[in-house]
Amino acid sequence: MKRTPGKRKISPRGYWVIGRQFEHRIILRAVIGDEPHPCHWCNRILTWGVDLHVDHVNGDKLDNDPHNIVPCCQPCNNRRARNLRPLKACCLRGHKLSGENLLPDKSGKRQCRTCTLANAQRRRRERMAGVGASPQASVVQAERLARFDELGAGWDSITILAEEWGIAQGSVSQYLKVCGVQLPNRVLDPTRDLPLTERIARLTRPSGECLIWLGKLHTSGSPYITHNSTSVYVARIVAENAYGKIPRRHEVVRKCNAKLCVAAAHLEVISTKERRARARMTPRAF
Ligand SMILES: [Zn+2]
Ligand SMILES: [Zn+2]
Ligand SMILES: [Zn+2]
Repeated sequence: MKRTPGKRKISPRGYWVIGRQFEHRIILRAVIGDEPHPCHWCNRILTWGVDLHVDHVNGDKLDNDPHNIVPCCQPCNNRRARNLRPLKACCLRGHKLSGENLLPDKSGKRQCRTCTLANAQRRRRERMAGVGASPQASVVQAERLARFDELGAGWDSITILAEEWGIAQGSVSQYLKVCGVQLPNRVLDPTRDLPLTERIARLTRPSGECLIWLGKLHTSGSPYITHNSTSVYVARIVAENAYGKIPRRHEVVRKCNAKLCVAAAHLEVISTKERRARARMTPRAF
């Protein structure tokens, strides 16, 4: 049976697709052929279906003119995508990525000095506290466990221990776990029974105009919280409280650049269609 060619339409990520294939791949393959080709930018030899990517030279993902598409390797494609994207104005915690606070690393990435230093300090403190070390290796462990027994398993004692040992509250339970003490879930989250909005308020900290989430992150990097055994995105809850129920096929997007910001004023409810149209406007390679 002969397969009929599919309809030409725009994919969610903003490329022309025909049926289930990217149009730019079909066109480039027809123009340059099936054999291996060198990367347009670094001459590495690439094979279709293995490591040959297609790059839009002018950054316009919808411009599939044969002069605008070239074979490209993954590293070159990533590098080009980075360079074509507008630079981030602030880090995911809302610190400005300019002037004193801008810390470029060896690979040319723009890092936040405030966050980099804070992370390094936290790791150093945790190393000194023996987090992650084997229980036998720690000389002070017995002393610490005695102190824990004295205070009892409760949120207050976790807070006191975190202060005494100079580590994060989350690291206290991690440390105790290493020592073979498993805390019950209820001790780890005392806000569990409070209303959701109250819990969210306790888990945020203002930073400039933004409200930065301190709680758990979804694997996608978005703030989320588990309430009554259901996991929900924090931005959705905040937006619903501020702007009413989110209609079908609508999503919450951030107007500021801070990925962890959940300030109602910085959230916006737009249709999925609109969000995709905006994504298409953002220049990217590929
Ligand atoms: Zn290359
Ligand atoms: Zn930062
Ligand atoms: Zn914000």
